[in-house]
Amino acid sequence: MTTGAAASISSTVKPNVASTVGNALRVDPTFLPTVEALSHENIRLCYYCLKCTAGCPTAYAMDYGPAHILKLVQLGQKDKVLRSKAIWLCVGCETCWTRCPNGIAAGHVMDALRVLVLHRQFLTSIRLFGRVHELSMLALYKLLSGDLFTDLDLGARMFLRGKIPILPERIKDLAKIRQLFTQQPRGQR
Ligand code: SF4
Ligand code: SF4
Repeated sequence: MTTGAAASISSTVKPNVASTVGNALRVDPTFLPTVEALSHENIRLCYYCLKCTAGCPTAYAMDYGPAHILKLVQLGQKDKVLRSKAIWLCVGCETCWTRCPNGIAAGHVMDALRVLVLHRQFLTSIRLFGRVHELSMLALYKLLSGDLFTDLDLGARMFLRGKIPILPERIKDLAKIRQLFTQQPRGQR
């Protein structure tokens, strides 16, 4: 993901007003508008008719079908959605889009959710090391997507030329970077 993309995501995340309902249900009201902005889909229109899930070729393997994912996004269930296996199993076939009476492309929403997961990992890397650790980003992507072998030869060549360091390199003034994170509202960290 490019720095520009990361910046554009950050700009869609408003100051966090996340709240806790009871002890278990964490609701993030910024999640729905963020995902709508990224996916260009009007998720609020979904009335959970389940036609998308019924036609989705990979729904059988998902922990939450596409309709369920949209419902969780509507309810601000950010952590649950971003930890979901379903978002990595969508193959982008767009069957859901053709079946939806409201013209919602759940596949586009899945794309946006994957970007948010990688963006979160990108920020974690910056917070820990002051820069991106390419190897952990790559490993996370491979593990989550299940796409273990694509570009393996390219990765091996880059590794042998020292372009992908095993250990993360920390910048000198890491404290200043961490200070930036503590000054930010929680929803943007
Ligand atoms: S088909 Fe459309 S309206 Fe029905 S559950 Fe899926 S996204 Fe929602
Ligand atoms: S685009 Fe993704 S969510 Fe939609 S039907 Fe295809 S695999 Fe399922």
